[in-house]
Amino acid sequence: MNQLSPGFSFQNSFKTLPKFLFEEVVPTPLLNPKLIHLNQLAFELGLESVKPDHLLKWLNGEVRFGGDQRIATRYAGHQFGVWAGQLGDGRAISLGEIFTPRKERFEVQLKGSGLTPFSRMGDGKAVIRSSVREYLCSEAMSGLGIPTTKVLALITGEDDVHRETIEKSAIVARVFPSNLRFGHFELCYHFEQPKALKALIDYTQTTFFQDLDLEEMLLEIIKRTATLIAHWQDVGFCHGVMNTDNMSALGLTLDYGPFGFMEDMNLNHVCNHSDHRGRYAYSQQPSVGMWNLERFLVCFIDHVPKEKLQEMLNQYPEFFKNGYQELCRKKLGLTTAKDQDQELFTDLLKTLSFLNLDYTFFFRQLSVYKRDNHNSLKEIWEYYGEREELKTWLKKYDLRLELEDSHNDERSLRMLRNNPKFILRNYIAQEVIEDVEKGSSEKLETWLKVLKDPFEDHPGLQKYASPTPPAKKDYVVSCSS
Ligand code: AMP
Ligand code: MG
Repeated sequence: MNQLSPGFSFQNSFKTLPKFLFEEVVPTPLLNPKLIHLNQLAFELGLESVKPDHLLKWLNGEVRFGGDQRIATRYAGHQFGVWAGQLGDGRAISLGEIFTPRKERFEVQLKGSGLTPFSRMGDGKAVIRSSVREYLCSEAMSGLGIPTTKVLALITGEDDVHRETIEKSAIVARVFPSNLRFGHFELCYHFEQPKALKALIDYTQTTFFQDLDLEEMLLEIIKRTATLIAHWQDVGFCHGVMNTDNMSALGLTLDYGPFGFMEDMNLNHVCNHSDHRGRYAYSQQPSVGMWNLERFLVCFIDHVPKEKLQEMLNQYPEFFKNGYQELCRKKLGLTTAKDQDQELFTDLLKTLSFLNLDYTFFFRQLSVYKRDNHNSLKEIWEYYGEREELKTWLKKYDLRLELEDSHNDERSLRMLRNNPKFILRNYIAQEVIEDVEKGSSEKLETWLKVLKDPFEDHPGLQKYASPTPPAKKDYVVSCSS
């Protein structure tokens, strides 16, 4: 073993589980690798002391480091509503877990590092395009305060990767407390492996939910999932492939594929071009969350009474509603809760959807709105022209604001902290991708900074806070990445 940094060591806790749940694998290095970005997190993990060329070799799977493991985990899942059988990490290799000095756990995974026993028809590779999108979006979600997997580093290679066209390869080193997915539990249950299931349940509980008994743990997972999706709805995030194998058992946003942030508001927006029936449309995400949890809870049928599982699942809508309503009130700058608030918000979403107004731009402008003064939405009227439907809604908003005890300026300050100025628009991601494909990391650096602080002004990038220019709206994203 090639020890790059003495004293630095991994914990390989997933390998204590039955062998049914993983396979040992060997990474396939990229050709002529180049380190494009090393994230701040690397410093927190103490990786800055590793020589850059050694670090690159490690990230490229050429050398080993600190007792790292190399495994791909086996899972299963329901894809687009249908049982898909066995799946697994088809192009991701787990190196084990490192701890920060504050004892935060980070499992490191190399995504795009070659074939595994679970690659099926795939090539085990990732292209620069999807890797940059995952890299940017992970930081964007963190910046928005939404639970997510994080990123450690991005490297690119010169291998040809065949997608719709020939593209270049990349590896994202991503990190999370654990890769645990609903699909790991589904695998053990549906393949009738009760011992593996019991070991997995115990492992999950003792490692990640120490203070909770099993029922409390399941309720916590239901709550986290509901809260996560409430956050997605709040910022207009569409995951794109909410299959159960892409659902984190820790309530994180996981597996960035054909995701997209809402640009022109459309309640039925489908960000994934391959999702022909709109199963994962924006408006469907909350109910899909519940459907996925039902698939997950079934796996516990031999451990928790059926009625109890049903009772827990039934609490999901309430968890979602509570989380979402609170976020909606914040979006509107309301500090008190009134019965009519949800109707006011739904009415607004329908109006924005009818008018196809840009979701992020609208709420940012609403943040500087002055009660009873429709002219204070100047930028909206300048961009879209005067819209009677919106004025009708503003009158209802004016009445609601009368019931609040705060002034315009105070409300405005609060709203500017809750309504981001910048989101990761597809055309922005595309500009960064093209830059990285040329070997540069300049735009990536710029946008990582902006997306980490999306509520700040970032002078010089004003045009990116406006609605996406019409010529840049037709960017298509599909499953193939
Ligand atoms: P996804 O829905 O994109 O998260 O992927 C579904 C399954 O396909 C997972 O098991 C992935 O690991 C696997 N997969 C996706 N792309 C590839 C690829 N290029 N090579 C091998 N496996 C892949
Ligand atoms: Mg996946």
